[in-house]
Amino acid sequence: MKYTGPVYRPPYEAGSLLLQVTVGCAHNRCTYCTMYKDVQFAAESIEQVEKDLQEARKLHGDAKRVFLVNGDAFVLSASRLKPIAELIIKYLPDVEVITMYASVNNIKSKTDEELRELRDLRINDLWVGLETGDEEVLNYMNKGFALKDSYEQLERLNKAGMRHIGIFIFGGAGRGKGIQNAIDTAKLINATKPSAVAVTTMGAFGDSQLAKDVENGKFVLATELEVLEEQKKFIELIEVENVSYLGIHAINTVTFDALLPRDRNKAIKVIDDAIEKLDDEFLNSVPQRHSI
Ligand code: SF4
Repeated sequence: MKYTGPVYRPPYEAGSLLLQVTVGCAHNRCTYCTMYKDVQFAAESIEQVEKDLQEARKLHGDAKRVFLVNGDAFVLSASRLKPIAELIIKYLPDVEVITMYASVNNIKSKTDEELRELRDLRINDLWVGLETGDEEVLNYMNKGFALKDSYEQLERLNKAGMRHIGIFIFGGAGRGKGIQNAIDTAKLINATKPSAVAVTTMGAFGDSQLAKDVENGKFVLATELEVLEEQKKFIELIEVENVSYLGIHAINTVTFDALLPRDRNKAIKVIDDAIEKLDDEFLNSVPQRHSI
């Protein structure tokens, strides 16, 4: 299998076959992200994809789930994704879901018909980097889309019958703004009804723009207590039925999975217990986080 440069996937895709269809990230401009900073974006050739699938068939011929790498693989046009999906089904016929990271703009660039065709070719469970439901926070993150795009494009995805997992960042709003961020983000989730939400925590990494802004005082990171209170408020406000809360990312201080609203009280108790047990010095600090 060919992999070029760094490869990231959600922890929940650990059992999926990783198939390279792009290198790097086509956007590569999010304020806080350094994942693909030094990698030139490129689309993998269909010949190489087929070669990898021939190899994959020998090793994992019964694969049920394929994760297309890298950073925003859904950036590929429908006319590129369709033959890739057809090849996957040809070589790995048991595949049930072909998934990948996606940006809101990647959805916007496809027609309703194309989204349905891709769904019919088993592309589903898109991991969409939404990060926040707060307009100002989203603008600072430089995701390249507006909040109204998140609402509109996720509605189109739902109409096409394609499930999505929304990715969100606690602490993304900075000091003193976590509760409002939780309120705005829960509003987005309740309106757009993801099948799951995956949560991480903001950190200032390497030479990211965020790290520079923290250094020069333009952005003040949230304290650990603020992050935990934001996490709690977020869980309190989610009203979608049977949404999986995926919170085991290593960057989070309190890690757990839950099904909401069923496990709401249990999840809140886990956070309350952590706040009670952690010492004040840690709760009022901003711990250094080393990777996303
Ligand atoms: S967060 Fe995602 S979309 Fe933004 S630069 Fe990093 S990999 Fe690309």
